[in-house]
Amino acid sequence: MRGFLFGFLSALVLAAVLLAGAGYIFVLRGSNNFAAREPTTFAPVEPLDSLPDVQAHSKLFEQRIEEPAPGVHVAIGYGLANVILIEADEGLILVDTLESIRAAQGLKPWLDQMRARTGKEITDLIYTHNHADHVFGAGVLLEGQTQSPRIWAQEQTQDRVHEVVSVLTPITFKRAMRMFGTYLPNESFSNNGIGPRLLNDDQDGVHFLLPTQTVGEQEEVIMAGERVILRHAPGETLDQLLVYLPERGVLLPADNYYHAFPNLYTIRGTPYRDPRLWVASLDAMRAFAPDVMIPQHSQPVLGAAEIETRLRNYRDAIQYVHDETIRLINEGLSPDQIAEVIELPPHLAQEPYLQEFYGRVEWAARAVFAGTLGWFSGDPVDLLPVGLAREAELMRELAGGADQLYQAAQSALAKGEFVWALQLARHLIQLGDDRAASLQAQALRELAAREISSSGRNYFLTMAAEAEGFEIPKNSIANTPAEVLNGIPIENFMVALATNLRASENLDIEVAYGFNFTDEAPLTIRIRRGVAVIETGLADDAVGTLTTSTDNFRAMAIDRANAAALLLSGEISVEGAVTELTAFLARFNPPSGQ
Ligand SMILES: [Zn+2]
Repeated sequence: MRGFLFGFLSALVLAAVLLAGAGYIFVLRGSNNFAAREPTTFAPVEPLDSLPDVQAHSKLFEQRIEEPAPGVHVAIGYGLANVILIEADEGLILVDTLESIRAAQGLKPWLDQMRARTGKEITDLIYTHNHADHVFGAGVLLEGQTQSPRIWAQEQTQDRVHEVVSVLTPITFKRAMRMFGTYLPNESFSNNGIGPRLLNDDQDGVHFLLPTQTVGEQEEVIMAGERVILRHAPGETLDQLLVYLPERGVLLPADNYYHAFPNLYTIRGTPYRDPRLWVASLDAMRAFAPDVMIPQHSQPVLGAAEIETRLRNYRDAIQYVHDETIRLINEGLSPDQIAEVIELPPHLAQEPYLQEFYGRVEWAARAVFAGTLGWFSGDPVDLLPVGLAREAELMRELAGGADQLYQAAQSALAKGEFVWALQLARHLIQLGDDRAASLQAQALRELAAREISSSGRNYFLTMAAEAEGFEIPKNSIANTPAEVLNGIPIENFMVALATNLRASENLDIEVAYGFNFTDEAPLTIRIRRGVAVIETGLADDAVGTLTTSTDNFRAMAIDRANAAALLLSGEISVEGAVTELTAFLARFNPPSGQ
């Protein structure tokens, strides 16, 4: 959403100038002419080997098609997640769709071949959950169908997908790009822990199709003549949907099982993933007693006994981390103390599918603490911290000067105390010391070289590049079809707008502006001394009203349509002075991310 408001605002300012008689010429940007995708701008990063185990783990994701059960095909390594295709008597069932138009285009030729070879079309598409790597290639994979398939999802999935426009989007995009190492050149990149590499960066368009059928707790459905059980199974997300094929004994566990320690917390930032729900879902999976299990990440597992062993150990590992954390919490330990001591018991820690290539046990334990007791560690020092800047000054005093702090950091690096070096670098950054950035980058690279979790490794390495000047590009929606954006509720855009009020500059301001949507109920945004409130209806005291369709508003908000041109062509109109609208919108920040 690059230029949300900025584009909108500058276009309206231009419109005001134009209406005042200046001779600008406007060109309305075509809403469906997508620019060719620019290649990824990689960060300048020196090649860095990963741990041998991490390198070996990449083999799991080598690109291939497997057929772990007759007529059940799994495409591995075409994007972050797997895509599963089930040949049924009367058609094909597709499960998940990869993370972007680009990723889906890579798999499309195979899918076309399968349609041609079987003479069947996809009758049903199932989304296992809302994450990008499962839903954003749908439009591409279904291109060329003569019939529109039914699209199945758990009832929460659509809303979660539409949070791509939300108040937290800029920061979650940035953190996700770090965690997935999107801007690391191949020589410094190994894998994403549960897949080869996320193919979704600032340039990638996405093509989500709305679900046509939703599932609450469980549905038994006939798809293409085949009996299919869809079961809600909250775990990695709250909307996970298991797929069970009873005639074949095949279970698709979605993202509730993969060949790595589960991501009970994801460092890109997420609400609490309650481990108890995940455990219950794994028990529900065991009750099916499947002969073949095909996860949406990593590789299929064959044999009822092997599957039962793995699912049992997986759920035991999750319960262990949860219960052990609770026990330690009750003993009075803080999150830092728990993170220091918690580990899986040896019989679980040795299992290859519980290695911390993706989730980390100590990060999971911190999440359990935060999810149950919240942010306060219990130590009063955390209630009123001195603040980073003051702490740095006091550390300098204690060390005897900034040079001593710097020397201590250098010696920490030499002795392999990399986290301590990173902490000292943070003080030097606060002190404005120009040696701090390269110190921080060095410490981060050392940590990356030793890190087993791909998420941690990629985060460290990307932040090392950022310390030395690399900037993660802003996300663009330029390559996403308008129909996808127009499916996003207008409320999401309005809430994102209201949340970006520059509060401190508007503490004495009381002003309302009306948004008269031609296809939805009208809204007013009222600025009241530092908060922007969304009200239903058009307020009598509004200083002006913008009349527009929600589609036009979305297009303007993401800088795809030119507000001035829409104004001139009469597709939008403004009641009151245009300058009132520009002045009103100028009170909000353009979100810094998308
Ligand atoms: Zn996934």
